[in-house]
Amino acid sequence: VHFSDAAVDLLLGGSCAGCARPGRLVCACCADELADAVATAGPVWPDPVPPGLVQPFAATAYDGAVRGLLLGHKERRLLTLRGPLAGLLAVAVGAAAQEAGPGPLVLVPVPSRRGSARSRGHDPTLRITAGAARLLRRSGVDAVARPLLRSRPGVVDQAGLDAAARAANLAGSMHCPTGLVRRLAARRTAARAVVCDDVLTTGATAREAQRALEAVGIEVLAVATVAATRRRSVPRDG
Ligand SMILES: [Zn+2]
Repeated sequence: VHFSDAAVDLLLGGSCAGCARPGRLVCACCADELADAVATAGPVWPDPVPPGLVQPFAATAYDGAVRGLLLGHKERRLLTLRGPLAGLLAVAVGAAAQEAGPGPLVLVPVPSRRGSARSRGHDPTLRITAGAARLLRRSGVDAVARPLLRSRPGVVDQAGLDAAARAANLAGSMHCPTGLVRRLAARRTAARAVVCDDVLTTGATAREAQRALEAVGIEVLAVATVAATRRRSVPRDG
């Protein structure tokens, strides 16, 4: 897997995914920007807040280098970008865990739409989430990644939909197969879930994931994303 990831990057790379400057896939300048972003990681709320949404946390704002990296990973399949993106997601999860106190975590990626990413063998959110869980374990946090959610057919692309239309599009669109829940419950009885996604926009996707997990009795602690759209994100106390 690592060899083919690198080969794809060699074929498609040759410029920074964050700013298109020729050279490395993540240039020194964008790496600095990512490092700075980590200092701003914390709670964010979409506006309006979907009713009942648990506290979302994001590593940074959805612009600049992070936006380029997320698009490069998702659309251009620059798979070695998983490392830095997983690092940012791990920081967001870490912020959530710090507020909630110790205890095992299950990181649950939001599912890709049927017929999109997963059928083409590329599920960017799952990849980033699994990478974040590995990084957290390495730093002593009891975390695993589990793709517990499935998307029902009939959900359309969210792009271009406003908050209300997104919520309607997504209502009841996810479910958690009971076999997966039983296996999780048998092994991690006290685990709390953190819903993981790449970008927090209206919060509709995260809210639907939270609903589907709670419907099968899983406690949802928080939402964690790599980035949040700046326009709609305000600090909880601001
Ligand atoms: Zn750059």
